[in-house]
Amino acid sequence: MFKRLALIGFGLIGGSIARAARAQGLVGEIVTTARSEKTRARVKELGIVDRVVETNAEAAEGADLVILCIPVGACGPVAQEISKHLAPGAIVSDVGSVKGAVAREMGPHIPDGVHFVPAHPVAGTEHSGPDSGFAELFINRWCILTPPEGTDPSATERLRAFWAGMGAKVEVMTPDHHDLVLAITSHLPHLIAYTIVGTADELAQVTSSEVIKFSAGGFRDFTRIAASDPTMWRDVFLNNKDAVLEMLGTFNEDLSKLTRAIRRNDGEALFEHFTRTRAIRRGIVEIGQDSAAPDFGRQHETLKKPG
Ligand code: NAP
Repeated sequence: MFKRLALIGFGLIGGSIARAARAQGLVGEIVTTARSEKTRARVKELGIVDRVVETNAEAAEGADLVILCIPVGACGPVAQEISKHLAPGAIVSDVGSVKGAVAREMGPHIPDGVHFVPAHPVAGTEHSGPDSGFAELFINRWCILTPPEGTDPSATERLRAFWAGMGAKVEVMTPDHHDLVLAITSHLPHLIAYTIVGTADELAQVTSSEVIKFSAGGFRDFTRIAASDPTMWRDVFLNNKDAVLEMLGTFNEDLSKLTRAIRRNDGEALFEHFTRTRAIRRGIVEIGQDSAAPDFGRQHETLKKPG
């Protein structure tokens, strides 16, 4: 599909793209780089890509597909750095979890004759770094493309085919719509998880060892999300501020309604609310976005016969 893929950044997402593109034979050659010598050395050891280079500019040179797989806040400066090194006709993309800011920060640095098609694979784990990626990460997950107005449709189609080749389902939308949808489906849940895990940690009346010991009551499911990469999530909240604040306003109103229901012993309101949310979980399972296995499919030990 592409002669040379350049991956700038080789963590969970860059590493997963490299593994999936290689496994599916989507690209001729893969060139990559990362910020630190440590990561570059590790990527060389892993032996998944053809070349590991020292600089972002060197990576972009001669590639027909360049994907920035770095924190959102670094996308603008890196686009500026590689700008003069992009080959005519190349497609430049990214994988950032925020799209409006990426379009604003990267767009001005994309030269004429180079296509700019930002993307966001809605897939991930709480792990990061060069060892965390895996080829199957994008299978049946959505990848959202947000090409700016006037983008050559054939460039968008080529990128769509690339993501489909890695098993993803692809949808095209505007950056602003993307940021609003992701504010409620991803950014707010992360903010809530970061809050609740932090609050529990600070509670004076429950020792932190008890928080950990009795975590199977629900707390541990929040800790997975709250273990997500601090740099990535700092950049998400700084760059999708308006949409997150709007959703947070609605969330606070709803939280007040539930608080009032508890205070007034309004069991009917609580029951009606929880029934509605349970149906949403069923809907997610029905469309194949999660497994129906109870307790997220965790393995349980078998009972041993007494004596
Ligand atoms: P990650 O595992 O932490 O990897 C980030 C990579 O970017 C590392 O290789 C890092 O190099 C490199 N990097 C950072 N700043 C750089 C710079 N200025 N120039 C060159 N390389 C730089 O992160 P990730 O989870 O793959 O996330 C990358 C992007 O994907 C983020 O924009 C995030 O919003 C998006 N995303 C993440 C997820 C998720 O669940 N994690 C899901 C969808 C989208 P070093 O290792 O040398 O520091």
